[in-house]
Amino acid sequence: MQARYKIAVIPGDGIGREVMPEGLRALQAAARRFDLAFDFTPIEWASCDYHARTGEMMPADWKAQLQGMDAIYFGAVGWPATVPDHVSLWGSLLKFRREFDQYINLRPVRLFEGVPCPLAGRRAGDIDYCVVRENTEGEYTNLGGVMFAGTEREIVIQESVFSRHGTDRVLKYAFELARSRARKHLTVATKSNGIAISMPWWDGRADAMAMAYPEVTVDKQHIDILSARFVLQPGRFDVVVASNLFGDILSDLGPATTGTIGLAPSANLNPERRFPSLFEPVHGSAPDIYGRNIANPVAMIWSGALMLDFLGHRDAHDAIVRAIETVLAQGPRTPDLGGSASTTEMGEAIAALIGTAA
Ligand code: ATP
Ligand code: MG
Repeated sequence: MQARYKIAVIPGDGIGREVMPEGLRALQAAARRFDLAFDFTPIEWASCDYHARTGEMMPADWKAQLQGMDAIYFGAVGWPATVPDHVSLWGSLLKFRREFDQYINLRPVRLFEGVPCPLAGRRAGDIDYCVVRENTEGEYTNLGGVMFAGTEREIVIQESVFSRHGTDRVLKYAFELARSRARKHLTVATKSNGIAISMPWWDGRADAMAMAYPEVTVDKQHIDILSARFVLQPGRFDVVVASNLFGDILSDLGPATTGTIGLAPSANLNPERRFPSLFEPVHGSAPDIYGRNIANPVAMIWSGALMLDFLGHRDAHDAIVRAIETVLAQGPRTPDLGGSASTTEMGEAIAALIGTAA
């Protein structure tokens, strides 16, 4: 029986609207080849245009509109010239993350042939890992406050919160992911030599979880040296799991070592599927290049591949990634990769390959 999925399509702002059509083109090509069907529901809210018209980023019933979807495919949000970033972000994406309990932020990091690498001497294949970031708790809380404000004795305290539930579920996801990959290796980011309460506890949870995954090799690394090794020895990594703050930093650092931001995809997952998960490029709305049809569509297309993988179609995911690989190596390429192709030309080339490649 043909698999059928309901996908909410939210282009958002700026180049989100330019790369989204290419993401959809790739998904349609994969659907034809792998006998899948998508019901796309286009959504114009969660954008600064909608905010300009209504004073809100989203309608009051946004959750009801999205709840029954199998996934949310998201472009980019933000137009700082008209809406401050904290309003647009907190009014849309961050609400999705919280209300839909998307507690995993997943970012694959891969160096492709044809993409200049800022690390000297690295070739395609040398960098190929995933960063798994805890997305809901840890260092990012609103607990704390300022004491003796405005005086010489002023003290600021901001708490971190690590729950057993919140920690175990992200570790479990990371161990499962590591077990599913060829190298079966997991790096656990920590800082138990400096953060003396939460991080030794986090390490202990990882040790406990490791007992259930004897086939996964585990390597705990302090965040400082781990960051250095992202640059100096990226080949050491396979799956990396980190708290909210450490994961935030690593998931920007990793993609930065593999070339342009126009390539980096991400997934915000609720692995139990109680709520829809969200798939979006790492990049923002890029007002500086919007309107010229020169944005790189790969991050959007690759995010669509992650969506298919999450929905259970690894073969379709792999076909999209192979098509991306070929087009990055042979062209056409957008200007951020040194080429002169348009967003549309690059997207069409990738879609054509998805439809035909073996
Ligand atoms: P955020 O939305 O996280 O606040 P930002 O607004 O700081 O991010 P982006 O919108 O991602 O940043 O843009 C950063 C830079 O990268 C800009 O110069 C932009 O033109 C460039 N850029 C972003 N995405 C792409 C893309 N898909 N193709 C080419 N260049 C891009
Ligand atoms: Mg921005």
